[in-house]
Amino acid sequence: MSPVADFQLNVKQNWCPGCGDFSVQAAIQRALGNLGRAPHEVVIVSGIGCSSRLPGYINTYGFHSTHGRSLPLAQGVKLARPELTVLACGGDGDGFAIGLGHTIHAMRRDLDITYIVMDNHVYGLTKGQVSPRSDRGFVTKTSPAGSTETPVSALELALSAGAGFIAQGFSKELNELAALIEAGIRHTGFSFINVFSPCVTFNKVNTYEWYSQRLRKVGDLPNHDRHDRMTAMQLVMETEGLITGLIFERG
Ligand code: SF4
Ligand code: MG
Repeated sequence: MSPVADFQLNVKQNWCPGCGDFSVQAAIQRALGNLGRAPHEVVIVSGIGCSSRLPGYINTYGFHSTHGRSLPLAQGVKLARPELTVLACGGDGDGFAIGLGHTIHAMRRDLDITYIVMDNHVYGLTKGQVSPRSDRGFVTKTSPAGSTETPVSALELALSAGAGFIAQGFSKELNELAALIEAGIRHTGFSFINVFSPCVTFNKVNTYEWYSQRLRKVGDLPNHDRHDRMTAMQLVMETEGLITGLIFERG
């Protein structure tokens, strides 16, 4: 069994202190170690953005690709080398703006890939513009009067597009996040994991504290039937997406 340490690299992350992406990196390393994968059996493909630097910080094969294109690359890798464990990752701008078409089609195509979105409701790398996940009223340099657009609902989108495994985590909850990623990798088929991963530099609204005050856990709802897509949709709509845990898994 490959220990978690096998996935560590001595590379200093180019992330701001406190960025939620540190936890996502740690959670992926823990999940891979727990699953007993060897570094040479894993490929992580990213798009462009702060979070897309992640493959450079984990000791596996990695591909830092182009904006919004992690999923076409990851699907190509999986088709060519189906024996590999393939992860794709990126930010909310990457996956829900320029890459949104790929996200929807990858969900319905259902190749055995785990897609992790580090969702901070803002464009961080380019220094703070409104993203497709920004809340209405969110003020940035490109939305000085506040965003007037309805944010993409990541979980409703995934449920509608037919994804077979849908989960949501929070960077502050490392144990839960690592377990969700492990479950996503174990799931055969396309797994989607959205992670609230705060940008401490350019999003002063959706902070760790903001999420801590609002997030509920699927685990606290003992009657949730994760195999029922309709029930999952109702849960997501009732909580306005502010819920963590395994939301849906095809039975
Ligand atoms: Fe993280 Fe935001 Fe800093 Fe980018 S700008 S590294 S998303 S805290
Ligand atoms: Mg972002």
